[in-house]
Amino acid sequence: MECQKLAYLEQIVEEIRPLTKQGKVATYIPALGHANPNTLAIAIYEGEGNCFSAGNISEKFTLQSVSKILSLALALQEHGEDYVFSKVGMEPTGDPFNSIAKLETSVPSKPLNPMINAGALAVTAMLPGKDTDEKLKNLLDFIHQLSGNSKITYNEEVAQSEFETANLNRSLCYFMKSHGVIEGDIEDLLDLYTKQCAIEVDCNDLAHMGWVLGNKGFNPITQKKVLSHDISRIVKTFMVTCGMYNDSGEFAIKVGIPAKSGVAGGILCAVPNGPGIGIYGPALDNKGNSLGGIKLLERISAERNLSIF
Ligand code: GLN
Repeated sequence: MECQKLAYLEQIVEEIRPLTKQGKVATYIPALGHANPNTLAIAIYEGEGNCFSAGNISEKFTLQSVSKILSLALALQEHGEDYVFSKVGMEPTGDPFNSIAKLETSVPSKPLNPMINAGALAVTAMLPGKDTDEKLKNLLDFIHQLSGNSKITYNEEVAQSEFETANLNRSLCYFMKSHGVIEGDIEDLLDLYTKQCAIEVDCNDLAHMGWVLGNKGFNPITQKKVLSHDISRIVKTFMVTCGMYNDSGEFAIKVGIPAKSGVAGGILCAVPNGPGIGIYGPALDNKGNSLGGIKLLERISAERNLSIF
């Protein structure tokens, strides 16, 4: 569905856009380095399916860590809470998203939560399907239902670029394999994980997914329940406690909306029983979150009184 451009939103985007100069595009995945740091966009879905947008909304970008909430939802649907949380914990961390430190010091060695890389890799290993292709297809089918966009697929260049350089994620995987947290072939898992992270969307897609998630997993347009109430509750709770990496506490105070960010610059927000918001701004702050995106959310949340606290 085409989103309606809103003049007041455009004005806010243009006021905040100059701040993106203070951020930096991620380059540790080389293909992400091509993004234009000046880009900023927002889309909002609400009510019965009204959509508003502003900024560079035709830009596409890869989900990166935003995919972690989607793989978690699907793993929970397939295996249930008990199994998933026997492999990965529920506690937030003040460490960066790709840190290996806690894996060695916590006993038994279990990733702290599904939003850091170690936990997300363990969750990706639980996706339903007999092989990488089938697992990826199941994840994409699920994303098609959540986003209302059946054209979504992954960006091969970004997936390949991450696969070739994912040595930190490789070491997390081998460490977890040696401690029995994950099983199977690590290169296959990294292939699937990097494709999952390279799934390509736009702001409308993120906003639509956030709207369905905020609406307890029910899509009012198709009248379909995409997710159970319980799973959407668990996912939103992780978004609050760990969704913005080690900035989640400050974000909860300043914005107060369940949100998940990714290093390509996307942020998916789900206001319980309220709007879904999709953001794109590839210039990141030093925690790996979209700098302009966070400023934009601070403004929108304050003006529309969206904090859940
Ligand atoms: N694919 C990225 C990684 O694993 C995702 C990280 C992120 O978005 N924070 O490093």
